[in-house]
Amino acid sequence: DHKATLIDGKAIAQTIRSEIAAEVRRLSQTYGKVPGLAVVIVGKRKDSQSYVNMKRKACSEVGIKSFDLDLPEEVSESELISKVHELNANPDVHGWYFSTASLPKQINEEKILSEISLEKDVDGFHPLNIGKLAMKGRDPLFAPCTPKGCLELLSRSGVSVKGKNAVVVGRSNIVGLPVSLLLLKEDATVTIVHSRTKEPESIVRNADIVIAAAGQAMMIKGSWIKPGAAVIDVGTNAVDDPSKKSGYRLVGDVDFQEASKVAGWITPVPGGVGPMTVTMLLKNTLDGAKRVIEQ
Ligand code: NDP
Repeated sequence: DHKATLIDGKAIAQTIRSEIAAEVRRLSQTYGKVPGLAVVIVGKRKDSQSYVNMKRKACSEVGIKSFDLDLPEEVSESELISKVHELNANPDVHGWYFSTASLPKQINEEKILSEISLEKDVDGFHPLNIGKLAMKGRDPLFAPCTPKGCLELLSRSGVSVKGKNAVVVGRSNIVGLPVSLLLLKEDATVTIVHSRTKEPESIVRNADIVIAAAGQAMMIKGSWIKPGAAVIDVGTNAVDDPSKKSGYRLVGDVDFQEASKVAGWITPVPGGVGPMTVTMLLKNTLDGAKRVIEQ
């Protein structure tokens, strides 16, 4: 029975985090400075709090200093903007993580994000960074973290991208579109499948590399996968599971059981792309800091 090589995102993320920690130590010894990430949260929503705490913990593990800013639910837009300007001007802050999940209604997300300085846009969502990602011969200061994590998983597993047929399922601003642009930059031939695509299975069947980011539990069946293909499953979907204490479990956009009998490489959910996202945030923060500290 064929079994795909498992791409262990947790282990790869751990390796990259030790590389980051070593670089942070070197910066600290050579220049007496460490990278800094501003982690901003507005309001007290529990899920975003725990997500943000995970980021703060990840920073401290690699020696990145986090500048925590917890603002009350009632904060006004002008107060928030002046905080943003303060952190923009702080030379010890090299990147921003801004939890937009829980922004209260008096705050306009687009307006706040446009205030964040381009040099500190470690999420890579600033329109100028995305624009440069899309242009031939240009490079963004930062590429978005989840897409960058997908490419890192491929390269660290020895899967080359150049000249391959890559199919991306999904076209969102945070995953599908930027991952397509990154693959194109790496010389893949890229096709994007979305909710209006006709016969998606026949398109996916041509893919040497599949990036699944539709947010649809197990929509990609084993029969859709070309034998030997590399499958990166970004999807993270909660499905009911009475056998679990929580009442649910997480599954990807790919039917893992079926697909792992056909694919050459495959990521699990959880433990695939997930651990890479925060790791790439740390990497972008390090890179941003190096640009400033070593200039
Ligand atoms: P969005 O809902 O923003 O986008 C989903 C995309 O998939 C859209 O472009 C949509 O098409 C397309 N789509 C939806 N249904 C289908 C279908 N049946 N066939 C083909 N295409 C379809 O999701 P996100 O991009 O934010 O996230 C995608 C998944 O990745 C989610 O499960 C999310 O939880 C996960 N995720 C995981 C991360 C991680 O770190 N592991 C980080 C970010 C996201 P259309 O544009 O036509 O509507």
